[in-house]
Amino acid sequence: MTELVDLVIVGAGPAGMETAIVAAKMGVTVTIVDGYLQPGGQYYKQIPASFHSKDLTERHLQAEEIFHRLARTNVRLLTNTTAWDVFPDPNTAEWIVALCGPGAPDRLQAKALVLATGAYDRPIAFPGWTLPGVVTAGAVQTLLVTQRVLPGRRFLLSGTGPLQLQLASQLVHAGAEVVGVLEGAKPRLSYAPYAMSMWGQWARLREGWDYWRTLRRAHVPLRFGWSVVEARGKEEVQEVIIAKLDGDWQPISSTRQAIAVDTLAIGYGFIPSTELTRLLGCEHDYFPEQGGYVPRRDDEMQTSLRGVYAVGDGAGIGGAKLSRIEGRIAGLAVARQLGRLDEKMARAAIARQQPALARERRFAHMLGKLFTPGPGLYTLATDDTVICRCEEVTKKEVLGAITAASNTVTWVKRITRAGMGPCQGRMCGHLVAELIAQQTEQKISQISPDTVRPPVRPIPMGCLSGGSK
Ligand SMILES: Cc1cc2nc3c(=O)[nH]c(=O)nc-3n(C[C@H](O)[C@H](O)[C@H](O)COP(=O)(O)OP(=O)(O)OC[C@H]3O[C@@H](n4cnc5c(N)ncnc54)[C@H](O)[C@@H]3O)c2cc1C
Repeated sequence: MTELVDLVIVGAGPAGMETAIVAAKMGVTVTIVDGYLQPGGQYYKQIPASFHSKDLTERHLQAEEIFHRLARTNVRLLTNTTAWDVFPDPNTAEWIVALCGPGAPDRLQAKALVLATGAYDRPIAFPGWTLPGVVTAGAVQTLLVTQRVLPGRRFLLSGTGPLQLQLASQLVHAGAEVVGVLEGAKPRLSYAPYAMSMWGQWARLREGWDYWRTLRRAHVPLRFGWSVVEARGKEEVQEVIIAKLDGDWQPISSTRQAIAVDTLAIGYGFIPSTELTRLLGCEHDYFPEQGGYVPRRDDEMQTSLRGVYAVGDGAGIGGAKLSRIEGRIAGLAVARQLGRLDEKMARAAIARQQPALARERRFAHMLGKLFTPGPGLYTLATDDTVICRCEEVTKKEVLGAITAASNTVTWVKRITRAGMGPCQGRMCGHLVAELIAQQTEQKISQISPDTVRPPVRPIPMGCLSGGSK
């Protein structure tokens, strides 16, 4: 069954919710779809309804405010629903989104489509990274924040970016022992000009100061220019090897040290979820500081395809504040496209968002420049290190598949099955791309991402046949 609406939004995180609220206020009929059980995305992750927690943070309060605004609109929210395919309707030039979820129609047909699909943790492969106890920072945070579960006792954090400090501080407050935080980036004089981007970001600076103070009080050492290089253990991680990094983030072997831990949280930033924009054939560009390949957009968040907009982290890593601003702009642009807002008012309303948009983009650019992992980290894997976890494909097998004639991620996927498992290359896609770049001496920006095929996420067979969900 296909239902007709004005606007479909995929993703009910900060970007998608803000788009929905603005567009609905202008009289656009909106359906918003999200794979999670509750709206909020990564930033406004909710604790389960059955939990009664009193320790509500500033972020919980912000979340309540946006949920409240959303509830006051007539936006239809389909949670626990996966958008697994998107394509144009050849007869109407509208967009069709295939859905899988209890109570969801099989398909929605819309005049406009906003993709607000967020991002996921950037994995780095190193010997032992598949051992139980090696967890992404995002997963540790999800367990801690939404389930109030500590996945271990004695933690080491290794990665890059300010979220590491936040997570370490949350772990200390939750009673975990944090033996150290390894930040891959090193403070450099050449970064001084970026300091101006911090101007006006007082709340963030205060937040950072609080995290730092918590770590100081708990005697948690913070080392710059260090990374984990190996995890060891029989059934689970028992010890990790760390090393100092050179300017290319290549480990310096004479500095290797062992540390006993039961949990290693790795957080090397995020990769935008671009499966749907790639599936549609939108044009993409490679910007390392935005997380890799991102859809090309105009000033109003429209991609290279008319009526398809991309907002938030899925269009370039920028954080929750920037995601909301982009959502607001896309909501206004869609309302104008559908004739619910006149040109002059739309232009004026979009112009009012520009100062905040520019400020948040400057800040995101600064973080991207300071905390993008260097190429040396992609040399940590040894021949027998698994690169594709779903299909258990090793580095040796990936390298063996790369020849002058087969030097794309899609070719390596065809030959080795790397990227064909349930995660559809979200874990290994960029690792394979880095290996191809190293092997063929190309820049990473010259290696195209793999071809996306529906279903973009695992769904039951029943959804494919239009039967039970
Ligand atoms: C793991 C993780 C942890 C983070 N922790 C922090 C933090 O502690 N502090 C901080 O400041 N920032 C954090 N961030 C960054 C912050 O959460 C994001 O900047 C912000 O949430 C981006 O908002 P968004 O709306 O673009 O995407 P998200 O909030 O990621 O929302 C995207 C939504 O799209 C849905 N979705 C995607 N594809 C589909 C599909 N095909 N079908 C159905 N639904 C789909 C997802 O289920 C998700 O709910 C974190 C990000 C991640 C990925």
